[in-house]
Amino acid sequence: MNIHEYQAKELLRHYGLPVNPGYIVNLEDDIHEKTKNLEQKKYAVKAQIHAGGRGKGGGVKLATGPQEVTQALESILGMCLVTPQTPPEGKKVHKAYVEEACAIQKEFYLSFLLDKSLECVQIIASAEGGVNIEELAKQDPTKIKTLSVNPLVGLQPFQVRELFYFLALPKEVGKSFQALIEGCYKVFTAKEMELLEVNPLVLTADNELLVLDAKMSFEDNALARHKDIAALKDPLEYESSEVEAAQYDLNFIKLDGNIGCMVNGAGLAMSTMDILKYYGGSPANFLDVGGGATAERVTAAFRLILADSNVRAVFVNIFGGIIRCDLIAEGILKALENVKLTVPLVVRLQGTNVELGSKMLEESPYDIVSISDFSQAAKVAVEEARK
Ligand code: GDP
Ligand code: MN
Repeated sequence: MNIHEYQAKELLRHYGLPVNPGYIVNLEDDIHEKTKNLEQKKYAVKAQIHAGGRGKGGGVKLATGPQEVTQALESILGMCLVTPQTPPEGKKVHKAYVEEACAIQKEFYLSFLLDKSLECVQIIASAEGGVNIEELAKQDPTKIKTLSVNPLVGLQPFQVRELFYFLALPKEVGKSFQALIEGCYKVFTAKEMELLEVNPLVLTADNELLVLDAKMSFEDNALARHKDIAALKDPLEYESSEVEAAQYDLNFIKLDGNIGCMVNGAGLAMSTMDILKYYGGSPANFLDVGGGATAERVTAAFRLILADSNVRAVFVNIFGGIIRCDLIAEGILKALENVKLTVPLVVRLQGTNVELGSKMLEESPYDIVSISDFSQAAKVAVEEARK
């Protein structure tokens, strides 16, 4: 899960890291109300979307005093921001962050990430800040320093010094640099992050270190341990169908094909997408309804699948292992009482009580194609979607 820059900065501030004061303005707020008390100082107005490269796309503006900040907010809020990291059509800006600006002497790059193969925390730093680090790694890897921190031993003072000399920072920021690296390591591990990227970290004109941009990404499977972080999820940044799916504990990912899939078990869901592709079809989604597919969840799943206007056929593929096929059939039929089926429905049931389940579907008033062979069912689903 990702969070916004302003949320990341709030967390860093809490851990004692150097961040300038700022506040959020929402699209629906009265902008004048939010800027009228500003001083005649320089501010940075920054679009809050989950994508980098905002500066180049016009999502970061420097402004002096209330009037210019108002203008910057008016142009940024509601805009469709296109950056190299957004989809081609861009992302709508619902929130902007107004932060006291700083005078930059030099920009640096700093990130912490989880190296799963080394089982270490990796620290990456460069004196070329504000850049695209992947590009720099290709062009001149000697400009990048990479260190691994063994989590059993923890961050060592010599590693901090190694980074400090590599970045050629002035002596007077030695202590604050150490505090910064230690603070980042602490928050990174405490909150079980996958990535903490400070790009740029800046040395200000008064020789102080400051976090100017912050990106954080958290391990989803650890969020149950971090309710404070989970609460920061911004539903506007996710597909609305995926947000609804999460409410029903459905493992749903929207794709761009036209065959809606409802499957139990992640492995079977993956092979279902593979076999549809194999027969020339294209799945509209990945959906694992889980082991205990109740009528309520099956209904929610149908609603999600049919809400996608690209869907031309629905393919239900359920293996009744933990759950019985007749209960699944009952769930499907109940769901169809509530959700109007507008496209062909192909159902493949296999497992416990499959005869009873298939019979229930065949005798139902709905137009359901019930096929118990996986390949045959997939083939028919692909053909139906083509019609
Ligand atoms: P990104 O483009 O999404 O990575 O957004 P950043 O927050 O990194 O901002 C992009 C660039 O805007 C930075 O690299 C800075 O050069 C500039 N910038 C942002 N805030 C300030 C500020 O307070 N003062 C100055 N002088 N420049 C800033
Ligand atoms: Mn940045």
